[in-house]
Amino acid sequence: MKNQPLSTTREATPLDVSIAIPIYNEEESLPELIAAIHNSLQETELRYEILCVDDGSTDRSAQLLKELAEKDPLLRGILLRRNYGQTPAMAAGFDHARGRAIVTLDGDLQNDPADIPMLLNKLDEGYDLVSGWRKNRQDHAVTRLLPSKIANWLIGRITGVKVHDYGCSLKAYRSEIVADMNLYGELHRFLPALAYIEGARITELPVRHHARKYGRSKYGLGRTIRVVLDLLTVFFMRKFLTRPMHVFGVVGVTCMVLGIVLGGYLTFLKWGLGQQIGDRPLLVLVAILILTGVQLFSFGLLGELLMRTYHESQGRPIYRVREICSSNGDRPTRENGEK
Ligand code: UDP
Ligand code: MG
Repeated sequence: MKNQPLSTTREATPLDVSIAIPIYNEEESLPELIAAIHNSLQETELRYEILCVDDGSTDRSAQLLKELAEKDPLLRGILLRRNYGQTPAMAAGFDHARGRAIVTLDGDLQNDPADIPMLLNKLDEGYDLVSGWRKNRQDHAVTRLLPSKIANWLIGRITGVKVHDYGCSLKAYRSEIVADMNLYGELHRFLPALAYIEGARITELPVRHHARKYGRSKYGLGRTIRVVLDLLTVFFMRKFLTRPMHVFGVVGVTCMVLGIVLGGYLTFLKWGLGQQIGDRPLLVLVAILILTGVQLFSFGLLGELLMRTYHESQGRPIYRVREICSSNGDRPTRENGEK
């Protein structure tokens, strides 16, 4: 990241950093938040922009954002048509960001903008993602801290990315890694895991955390089950995205082989020894095993077809290039799927 003086007139040149913030009913925090971000970044002389994504707020947030953006050339407001949720709001921020680095944080002042330069410095050390770690988290112990501790442990175990605090929105990304991540549902909680799937170098830094000053949290305990389901999706994607047959096929073929062997045994009993097999539970098991086996195997084949469509229709290669080194400046015609 270059240390160039801050300028508002060079809009066409790449920015050093975009700050992307989802906003849902945060009218009280907004002015304070923008001021704090300016405060923290003006000292660094980085060229930056602030992107506030209004996620269909029902209070005056959108109106306020419009007014602020009119006066502030470094602030852009992106007003979504309705309330989509935090993940789509963050995705909108990512899509509109022009900086070579992107920093996300919450719109409720729980994250401290003063930590942004520290995260960016860490990013400069050669990381693709620096995740904030709310070491001293100011939230309710039973309804927030405990579930979050369990979730972080579980996510770390299953995804293989050991980060203490997945839930912390304050994170810094290199824009290339963001361009490669597709966000769906409520996957914003798994961003480090998604980045890891794309081959990112990830680290974390302790950051400050404040209790909510205004408004209230948009989430309750209801998110637990959704987190677990999302976790399964991410786990599957990490392990089998490019080879679904290896999961469905293995189970399917195992079921089929078991079914056929047991079926052969029953056939032998019936035809070889002349026994009655019509009332044996084993017969039911054989039927279930063979049917399930065939179905799982077909799932695997369908998965392979879908996976191919997914990668080929989007021009997404099944690998990611970090860097191309060459002395004569040769560049391939297609790099990282760009055509
Ligand atoms: N948010 C959003 N859309 C929603 C819910 C939340 O854009 O539907 C934003 C919200 O304005 C805040 C961030 O996502 O900036 C995190 O929300 P919140 O502070 O309620 O979550 P918590 O910190 O309690 O986990
Ligand atoms: Mg919050």
